Amino acid sequence: MQQLRTSQITIIGGGLTGLTLAFYLKRAGKKVTIIERNHEPGGVIRTFTEQGFTYEAGPNTGVLSSPELVQLFDDLGDTCNLEVANPNAKRRLILKDGSWEALPHNLSSAITTPLFSLYDKIRILGEPFRKKGSNPYETLDKLVARRLGKSFLDYAVDPFISGIYAGNPANLVTKFALPKLYNLEQNYGSFIRGAIKKRQEPKSELEQRATKDVFSVKNGLQQLTQALTAAIGHENFILNAKRTSVTLQNGKCQTTVSTEENDILVESEELITTIGAYELANTLTFLTPEDLSPITNMRYAKVAQVALGYKEWNGYPLNGFGGLIPSKENRKVLGILFPSSIFPNRAPEKGALLSVFLGGIQHEDIYNLPDQELIDTALNEVSETLKTNLKPDMIHLFRYPYAIAQYERSSEQRLDQIALLEQQYKGLYLAGNIRNGIGMADRVKQGVTIANMLIK
Ligand SMILES: Cc1cc2nc3c(=O)[nH]c(=O)nc-3n(C[C@H](O)[C@H](O)[C@H](O)COP(=O)(O)OP(=O)(O)OC[C@H]3O[C@@H](n4cnc5c(N)ncnc54)[C@H](O)[C@@H]3O)c2cc1C
Repeated sequence: MQQLRTSQITIIGGGLTGLTLAFYLKRAGKKVTIIERNHEPGGVIRTFTEQGFTYEAGPNTGVLSSPELVQLFDDLGDTCNLEVANPNAKRRLILKDGSWEALPHNLSSAITTPLFSLYDKIRILGEPFRKKGSNPYETLDKLVARRLGKSFLDYAVDPFISGIYAGNPANLVTKFALPKLYNLEQNYGSFIRGAIKKRQEPKSELEQRATKDVFSVKNGLQQLTQALTAAIGHENFILNAKRTSVTLQNGKCQTTVSTEENDILVESEELITTIGAYELANTLTFLTPEDLSPITNMRYAKVAQVALGYKEWNGYPLNGFGGLIPSKENRKVLGILFPSSIFPNRAPEKGALLSVFLGGIQHEDIYNLPDQELIDTALNEVSETLKTNLKPDMIHLFRYPYAIAQYERSSEQRLDQIALLEQQYKGLYLAGNIRNGIGMADRVKQGVTIANMLIK
């Protein structure tokens, strides 16, 4: 028999976006229902503990880059303890000709680094005086080569984009993928001048605390989603939603949810989706494929993550954030993070925890390898690049066929279509990583922004 449930606001998807949104709506006294496919909320954020290792299946770290994220940690109080990276995690390694080189962090290291060519190092002095770009759809590779030079593209931006987007700078449109960078050039005429001017601008107390520090949470990121879930209240979730389908009738959103036990009809005035583009057609069944195709055609990078735990480590010294690997190096991994060097208590004393990332837009062939081959690839790359013959004491593989949304040229049409549908169907909001950024700080910011809009 079908149960009926009424709610002011329905949220589809209980990852970080949906949880942040629900947390603030609930605090403002709204009645919310969160529909989640899995047996627990949290989305891709999952932490495990085993044999003295605390490892992540999804994101390992975030950047404390938005005031909304700082505020969220304040609002959660001691139910969730923010953990900021060790100062030595500022040291980021880039592989060049088979050796790790630290990414420069000050003027003297920028002058001496072998990562960038002498020509580009001299040329960068002219960056503040270079002409502003006029193509709003310029891809990141072109923008960086134009303003900074090819060696900066190859040995700073390309590995950085592998680390964030698992993407290709030749496909990502700066305006959509890195809007802050795009705006520096557009608003100030130069990255360098813009960065200096921005630093001088007055900031609120919260903005000052959005430090760009790398963060996690004590005992792992899942503590954050668990703290949000507890604050929202378990009674406001429908979990194990095997099928979710939405129709609009008489100005109300009617969401039919099938779980293993029963069917539930949730009636609400407003409905927000926080699910990926690839889920929308099955869920928003009142829309046609033509309505949705400008949104659902967005590409996602497939990413595999291998967590490796070593009870005693004897390889390359892991004093830093981790190593990113430029495409030019032709290796089979995107990068290797050193979580046990970034945060305390992630591995036994003398031990090490590594997170190896494989796949991405440029290496789907590697993602598609069978599990054991993928793990062997990760192990070979670790032993060659981090100079160790040790066998890990713990190995876990996690796969994400839709890991990271790619903000490419099609983004404009996607954003226009989202705006059109939201205008056409009052009470419907399309959120999640289909817009407004892919990092955890972006997801929290989006959740807060929509909550504030609905509370008003
Ligand atoms: C491997 C990996 C590494 C990452 N690394 C970083 C990093 O280093 N730093 C960083 O800031 N960010 C990182 N990210 C991105 C970050 O994790 C995400 O932006 C964020 O956690 C996404 O939250 P979300 O709520 O938008 O989406 P999700 O976490 O994907 O949540 C969506 C939820 O919707 C549910 N769902 C889907 N379809 C339905 C349906 N039809 N009905 C009901 N429920 C449904 C899903 O089960 C899921 O729980 C990484 C992501 C991945 C995958």
